[in-house]
Amino acid sequence: MSGYQVKALYVLPADGADERLDTNGTLARSLAAAQAWLHERTGKRLVLDTFRGQPDVAFVRLDQSDAELSSHGVFIRDQLERILAARGFDHPQKIYLVYFGGGAGVPVCANAAHPPRLVGQVTALYLKGTPPGALPCANNRFATDERSAGYLEFLALHEVFHVVGAVQRCAPQWTGDHVGDDPGDLMYAGSSPWRPARIDTHNDDYFRTGRADCLDVDRSIFLSPQAADAEIPAGWGFRGLSTPQWPADSAIDIGHRCPTGVSDP
Ligand SMILES: [Zn+2]
Repeated sequence: MSGYQVKALYVLPADGADERLDTNGTLARSLAAAQAWLHERTGKRLVLDTFRGQPDVAFVRLDQSDAELSSHGVFIRDQLERILAARGFDHPQKIYLVYFGGGAGVPVCANAAHPPRLVGQVTALYLKGTPPGALPCANNRFATDERSAGYLEFLALHEVFHVVGAVQRCAPQWTGDHVGDDPGDLMYAGSSPWRPARIDTHNDDYFRTGRADCLDVDRSIFLSPQAADAEIPAGWGFRGLSTPQWPADSAIDIGHRCPTGVSDP
């Protein structure tokens, strides 16, 4: 399929155990649960790459070991972006939502590009990540049905929202690429337990804000139904149509801590 799409990838390091998340229905179910949760709150869904109505999840076995990749810490995302591009996952209109079956030693359960400060097309969930002071990421469980979105589904949505640019500094409740006012907000980060129930509480920070001068994810070209004035992420436009060339500072991935946590029972 062509056009602007979110493409899910199940990526394993050379020595990572294959839990068959791409073929046993786990990721398809998880993505369906995330889509249902998003649609219930916004009337929109992510534009996912699908095949016969199901999310088309590609499988990628990398040449590098988990230790080799995870030694990059939070910068593992930049490594994955480079490695996956070399493997052909560099379509100029795709966001790659990576479910990485490794990450021992990676101090976060996920991170993402965040234009315009960090332009890129990859976001990754580190399924075996080990955030300090929190439970291992592997304690989180995928949704068991399409109506039971939990932490991993919220995290996937949260990270894709980062790749399209949320939350920008012009937002009133902005705090380090997130919002800090409501632990029930999809884009919250802070000291309270994260329990997403809403997308942009009060609609004043990043969704349906009615503002043209600050990023509004409602206008993203990666959401369907598409807005009349649909926007691509900041910084994507300068690229040619074949080879992505991200700015030299795209490896700067600091100051970005997405919430860690485990699914509600
Ligand atoms: Zn985040």
